[in-house]
Amino acid sequence: MNLILLGPPGAGKGTQAKRLFADYQIPQISTGDILREAVRRGTPLGKQAKPIMDQGKLIPDDLMVGVVEERLQQPDCASGFVLDGFPRTIAQAEALESVLGKLGKRLDKVISLEVPEEKLIERISGRRNCPNDGTVYQVYQNPPKRAGFCDKCGGGLVQREDDKEEAVKERLKVYAAQTAPLKGC
Ligand code: ADP
Repeated sequence: MNLILLGPPGAGKGTQAKRLFADYQIPQISTGDILREAVRRGTPLGKQAKPIMDQGKLIPDDLMVGVVEERLQQPDCASGFVLDGFPRTIAQAEALESVLGKLGKRLDKVISLEVPEEKLIERISGRRNCPNDGTVYQVYQNPPKRAGFCDKCGGGLVQREDDKEEAVKERLKVYAAQTAPLKGC
């Protein structure tokens, strides 16, 4: 099953992708996670992406298409994948179509997650992440057992730079302008 999860920041794309993996073993391809890992490791991609991500803006399309094209060729994508956070622009969607054609794959479904804006802001402002193992908590709905610390590894939780208010506003604006139009495609 080859799927795209579409939805604004905070809609729950990552959560649903993880559930799909648990139920169907189809890997989640989260471009946000790939970029955050590149930033953490200090790779050239990470160095280029960090200042753009921190402001809530989008990484150039050609870079993102290259990342996804490479990821889709890995063996775990042979029997399916869930794209989470890609495509995010019309140009990325067009490039994806041609990449999938080249690889002899096609999409089965696009799932669009719809959540009211006030709920998105509430969810994102309460989101906390474990930098060691990537676990995501929500201080209101899914808090860790000990406030501020990861249940699994005990590490200190942090707030993503782009989950801070200014960047969130920018991400929602970018979503409405550049990504939401994909729903009409
Ligand atoms: P969310 O869906 O919560 O906004 P993501 O984790 O998907 O966040 O992405 C975080 C950031 O990574 C984005 O704000 C953007 O800077 C960058 N990013 C992720 N995916 C893409 C993409 N497909 N195209 C351009 N930038 C991207």
